[in-house]
Amino acid sequence: MPSPIALGLGAALPALLAYAGPAALASTPANALVAVRKRLRDRRRVAITFDDGPQPQALEQFLRTLDDEAVRATFFIVGEQALRHPALVRQIHAAGHELGNHGFAHRNHLLRNPFGIAADIERGAQAIAELVGARPALFRPPYGVVTAATCLGAWRAQSRLVLWSRWGRDWRAAATPGSIARSAALRVRGGDIVLLHDADHYASPGSWRNTLAALPRILELVRALGLQPTPIGGPAGLTW
Ligand SMILES: [Zn+2]
Repeated sequence: MPSPIALGLGAALPALLAYAGPAALASTPANALVAVRKRLRDRRRVAITFDDGPQPQALEQFLRTLDDEAVRATFFIVGEQALRHPALVRQIHAAGHELGNHGFAHRNHLLRNPFGIAADIERGAQAIAELVGARPALFRPPYGVVTAATCLGAWRAQSRLVLWSRWGRDWRAAATPGSIARSAALRVRGGDIVLLHDADHYASPGSWRNTLAALPRILELVRALGLQPTPIGGPAGLTW
């Protein structure tokens, strides 16, 4: 379950703590190392992103819906789930979707030591690389928690840090397809990065079914504004 974005462990490396949202984006090399992206620079697109998978049964249905809609998305994979379901990771990749790293274990970085965080980010990246032959360019920390160690770990793993600008709040037991679609896309704007979950490993049991049911409506709302639902990386790659 995502919690409010938090910062911690900053005392050790305050100079590197550059989390400030889109306003602080990479105008200098130092910022480029640790900037946390919440929106796309390309305002013609809206990024559709799924966290916490892969999960059997759920994934097949998400891939089918995305295929029916002719949409490619970004899947932030949890390494421990990738080890359990390697074929599903390859399936996402083979279907043309973008893979991002959501860490190896889905644990809050505020509760881990800096070395553990760096090791976890790298292990998550390696789990994906070993399955599809390419390291993920993106890292999204569990619960959206960014610490100085998160920034350093992502940099060492050669990954860009990505959060989101809209979410479906779909991990909650009280969520419905309607509430998810409204939260994710009713006031969507070009450049938004939309957070959804295609698995319930760390959420209310069965919550992915509501997300799946909401997905066509979310895509409809995005397209109604003339915006294109895409992965975070655009047609020309990771141009943001
Ligand atoms: Zn997550």
